[in-house]
Amino acid sequence: MSSASKVFHYFEEICKIPHGSHNCKEISDYCVTFAKERNLFVRQDKLFNVVIVKEATKGYEQVPTVILQGHLDMVCEKNEDTSHDFLTEPLELYKEGDFIAAKGTTLGGDDGIAIAYCLALLDDDEISHPRLEVLFTVEEEVGMEGATYLDVSELKGKYLINIDNEEEGVLLTSCAGGLKAQAVLPITRTSVKGQGITLKIQGLLGGHSGAEIHKQRANANVLMGRLLYELGDFLEIVNIRGGLKDNAIAREAFLDGVVAEENLQKVKDKITQLTNVFQKEYSKMEDNICIQIEQTGQVTKEVYDKKTKEKTITFLMSALNGVYTMSAHINGLVESSQNLGVMSEEDNKLIFSFAVRSAVASLKKLLSDKIKVLIESLGGTYIESGQYPEWEYKETSKLRELFKKSYETLYQKEMKVEAIHAGLECGIFASKMQEVDIVSFGPDIFDIHTPKERLSISSTERTWELLLHVLKNTKKLV
Ligand SMILES: [Zn+2]
Repeated sequence: MSSASKVFHYFEEICKIPHGSHNCKEISDYCVTFAKERNLFVRQDKLFNVVIVKEATKGYEQVPTVILQGHLDMVCEKNEDTSHDFLTEPLELYKEGDFIAAKGTTLGGDDGIAIAYCLALLDDDEISHPRLEVLFTVEEEVGMEGATYLDVSELKGKYLINIDNEEEGVLLTSCAGGLKAQAVLPITRTSVKGQGITLKIQGLLGGHSGAEIHKQRANANVLMGRLLYELGDFLEIVNIRGGLKDNAIAREAFLDGVVAEENLQKVKDKITQLTNVFQKEYSKMEDNICIQIEQTGQVTKEVYDKKTKEKTITFLMSALNGVYTMSAHINGLVESSQNLGVMSEEDNKLIFSFAVRSAVASLKKLLSDKIKVLIESLGGTYIESGQYPEWEYKETSKLRELFKKSYETLYQKEMKVEAIHAGLECGIFASKMQEVDIVSFGPDIFDIHTPKERLSISSTERTWELLLHVLKNTKKLV
């Protein structure tokens, strides 16, 4: 079997083993057995991360150890008409043109291809390479718990190649760090009578709060704030809520309220007027912004008292949202941003949840401090969680230069150097192993995290060729 066919062979093997996030024991055990059968050093920790070591091939004993890394877990998404059981059933692979995909489900090319590359390397005795430390992490897709937990104290690697990028010809060199910031406002209520209403802001595109924040799409929670600012004198709030995840741009927001009969028409007119304003502001970015008001009949309700309503409006009108700074190193890259992803009520408290991101640690802190200062000035509290570290761009990187050179030698064109405004496991490794030189790359995979996910066969072959070329030329790293 050629080394490239081994890659596909191992890819098929791992697709037989269910390996969604939080279900990685079996695939992890498979890797452990694989290593033992080949007399390779292997370590599995209690989360089922795996470390496998393969000694340098002849002539590469003096080259520093290279770490190869990918994640074992995959996102499990399926079409509605697919009855696939991700816990027990193997994926059903098929080939179409240049692509491998799975019937009705995600393929897990993200990040199964990294595992396949590494197993093919570990299995081969003819490929030249330095001492390799192969890291397979778990739960990347659900908060990078595996990488966070992994003990790296015994690793000797000076270079780390992360294989979890989905675009051939692109080398990642930096990523954002982030956190979840929650501003909690206590609600005090008072009773009123009037016409019950429900306001709905819908039809927004939403999107990923990292990868798509630069598209300047509307955030339904932010629009709700503006609506309340304009309508606040004429309506009372029973409940407001919007968005589903802090890291998704809010697509919908809702308000249950009470309006005095004589103000009803004014509120309706104002909504029509604001809908026009929003549609104009967001023309070309959002086509379907829709705000509706429904009447629910005469009611007596417990509503936000005057102070709570004012504070809610002040918070929504003052909190930052969207892109905050752009990178000075990489053209067009968002450096810092924040997204008011969720607005929800719990135990008579209104909670605003933000995803804060930055490639610069101090700016991440600044953004979260601003939320903290604002909510505390309004008598609320601030809660922070889910911190993950950034991977800052390094001015000099021998590994980056080696990749660029290898790519140019093989394909006579320049490899693109990019960064992303989202978290990668590289950020965790960069913070744990500060001297290690890191890059991230990988073959073309399209529509990841959806049942349309497909892996390009030719790109997988070229990317494999590039990896082998880099490993062969690691003597240049000395
Ligand atoms: Zn991935």
